[in-house]
Amino acid sequence: MLSPVTTGICAAGGCAVAAGLAAAGWAYASRHPASRLFGDALTAPRRPGEIAFTFDDGPNPAWTPHLLDALAAHNVHATFFLIGRFAQAEPGLVRRIAAAGHLVGNHSWSHPDLSRTAARDIREELRRTRDALEQITGAPVRFFRPPYGARRPAVLRIARELGLEPVLWNAMTNDWSEPSAERIVQTLSRRIGKLTEDGHAVNLVLHDGNHRDLGWNRQPSVTAAGRLLAQYARTHRLVRLDAWVEERK
Ligand SMILES: [Zn+2]
Repeated sequence: MLSPVTTGICAAGGCAVAAGLAAAGWAYASRHPASRLFGDALTAPRRPGEIAFTFDDGPNPAWTPHLLDALAAHNVHATFFLIGRFAQAEPGLVRRIAAAGHLVGNHSWSHPDLSRTAARDIREELRRTRDALEQITGAPVRFFRPPYGARRPAVLRIARELGLEPVLWNAMTNDWSEPSAERIVQTLSRRIGKLTEDGHAVNLVLHDGNHRDLGWNRQPSVTAAGRLLAQYARTHRLVRLDAWVEERK
């Protein structure tokens, strides 16, 4: 027979489980790239055979130029989600990205977890970055990718109020910590194959920078990007994200 104390513990345990489930739901809604519980965002339309290469956390003076060379060699235009404070430090590189025909997107000023950031600070992170990028490139910035994919309704609402379309992804691996370009290529190739087979376009993320520091070594990611470009430029249509704005999924 349960004592009141034991019953109390069981009840508390039940509450802990319920709280855990609620936390798991919040984690899914705020972090999972496929979640739309906190609002709509651009991922990829049902256009199998198309891939948007996107690069996060730059500009990186050590590695972004190599990436630009690889993209130019395959005549591919990509989308770069830039960190505002790095863009301000490397305006020449930002101009080079834009001048090569790539799309420049907003990845916040300092790369915080926006699901845990006050609304006024979210607005400032996005606005300051948008204004810096537009001042550097002379062109409007239309797309925004939340750092870590982390969001809550206020993040998506504020982005839209600032004229920014939120963007997530459907193909990513842990390229930021993976030392083997080969493994990055293998994982992403499998994902591209599956998405293509399932009738989806691919919104692929690699990292040419690291929010912790300017100049981070991104050799595995950039090498992997070069191999994937060589592999898919022949079989797929490689597009910028603005090719999909009318066909959101
Ligand atoms: Zn990032």
